[in-house]
Amino acid sequence: MAGQIIGYTLLALAVLFISVTVARALAVKKPKIEDSEYVPHEIDKHAVAEKLSGAVRIKTVTLPDNDADGSVFYEYQRYIESVFPKVTENAEKILVNKYAVIYKIKGSDETLLPAAVLAHQDVVPADPEGWEADPFGGEIRDGYVYGRGSQDMKSQMIAALEGLEILLTEGKRPRRTILFCFGHDEELRGTYGAYEISKYLENSGVRLEYVIDEGGTVLDGKILGIDKKIALVGTCEKGYADYILKVKKDGGHASAPTRRTAVGMLAEAIYKVEKHKMRPHWTKPTKEMFAALAPHMNFPFKLALANRDILSPLLKPLLCLVSPFTNCLMRTTLAPTQAEGASTPNTLPGVAEGTVNARINTGESVQSVQAHIQKTVGKHVEISTLEGSIDPSPVSDTSSEAYAMLKKTIGEVFSGYIVAPYPFIAASDAKHYYNLTDNVYRFTPFEKSVEDANRIHGLNERQDIDMLAEGTRFFLRLYENTCL
Ligand SMILES: [Zn+2]
Repeated sequence: MAGQIIGYTLLALAVLFISVTVARALAVKKPKIEDSEYVPHEIDKHAVAEKLSGAVRIKTVTLPDNDADGSVFYEYQRYIESVFPKVTENAEKILVNKYAVIYKIKGSDETLLPAAVLAHQDVVPADPEGWEADPFGGEIRDGYVYGRGSQDMKSQMIAALEGLEILLTEGKRPRRTILFCFGHDEELRGTYGAYEISKYLENSGVRLEYVIDEGGTVLDGKILGIDKKIALVGTCEKGYADYILKVKKDGGHASAPTRRTAVGMLAEAIYKVEKHKMRPHWTKPTKEMFAALAPHMNFPFKLALANRDILSPLLKPLLCLVSPFTNCLMRTTLAPTQAEGASTPNTLPGVAEGTVNARINTGESVQSVQAHIQKTVGKHVEISTLEGSIDPSPVSDTSSEAYAMLKKTIGEVFSGYIVAPYPFIAASDAKHYYNLTDNVYRFTPFEKSVEDANRIHGLNERQDIDMLAEGTRFFLRLYENTCL
C-alpha cells in the first residue's frame, strides 16, 4: 500500500514536472518584428574595394614598441584622408601618443553624447611564403581583396568611413558627434593606442553614447537548433593569462635518474590541469544570449533553455560538450601550449617549465584562476604569470537605447538575422573604453565562410567585396539611426 502511494506520488510529480517545463517552453514567444522604412543605399562596391586595396598596400605592421619608427602610420593616415575627402574636410584630427588618431566629426547638437567608431590601423606581419598573392599587394581577384589586414580590420575601417563619406556627399550632417578612434597596436594589446585614446578622451571630459568595434560573429543557427543566421554582438571580453608552471629538481646525467624528475612532475601537473577543467557557469552575457535565442530555437532546445534554472546541472555540462564554441562561452578554458626541459636529450634538467594559456570567464580573475591551478597541481609547482595578463572586461548594457538601435540596424541591413549579445572570446581595443560608457559593443558586419575566417592572421587573408558593400551599408544605416 505504502509502495503504491509512493508510486502514485512520483507519477504525479513527474506529470507536474513535465507540464510545468512544457508550459514554460510554450510561453517563450518570438518577439514581433517592427516595421522599418529602411531603403538600402546603392554602394559602388568596386570603388570601396579599391580604397581597401590601397589601404592594404601600406604595410602598417604593429610596432614592437612606441619608440620604433612609425612613419608608415602617417603615410597610412594621409592615404585615408585622401580617399575620404568629405570626412577629412569635416573632421578635426587629433594624434594621440604619436600614431593613434582620432577624427572628430562635430555634430550640430551638443547635448548628444558622441558615438565612437573604433578600428585599428595595425596588422600582424605576413611572410609571403605560401600566399597566392602578395600579402601587401592589395590584389583584387575573383570578388575579393587579398592581403594582410583586408579582414582584420582595414575592411571595417574603410566601411565605417565610406558610410559617413556617402552621407556627407549627400549633404547630410550628423547631429551627434562621431569620433573615429583608430589605435595602432591592437595586435599587441592596444596599450599605446586604444588605451591612450580612451585616457585622452577621459581627461578631456568626454562621455560616449556608445562604442562600436570589431568582434562578434555571424553564425549559422543550426548548431543551436535555429534555422536562421545569428548575429552575435560582443558585450564583454574574456580575460587572458599565461601561467608559467615551474618544477625544480636536482639535475644530473640521464643515465642515473632520480625517482621523480622535473619533466615527469611537470607532465603530471599539466595532465592534472587538463583533467580538472574549470567549472562552467552562467554569466550575464551567456544568460542574455540564450534568452535572446530561445524564442527562435526548435522545441527541444527551447524546452531546455526555458527551464534553464531547473535543468542547469544537466545543461551546463551539455553545452560544454556540444561544441568547442559553446564550451568557450560557458567556462574559463585552460590550454597547455608550451613545455621545456633540458636542452640536450641525455640531461636531467634542474628546472622544467610549461605554459598554460587561459581565457578567463566573466566572474573569475587572473588571480582566482591561478589559485585553481595551484590547488590542482600542488604546492611543489611554482606558478607565475607572464606580462599582459588581464581580467575579464566589464559587461556592456543591453537595455540601452544604443543597443536597441544597433540591434535594429543589424536586423534592417542583414534581413532575417537574429541578433543576440554574447561574450566575445578573443580580444579587441573596445575593452579600453569602459571608462567612457557602459555601451561598448563589438560587431563585425561582414558575413564570412569558416574558411575565410580562418585566413585572419593566416595565409591568403581576403575580404569578400559584396560583404564589404554590405558592411558599408551597415555603418551608413547605423549613422542614420543614431547620429543624424
Ligand atoms: Zn583586429
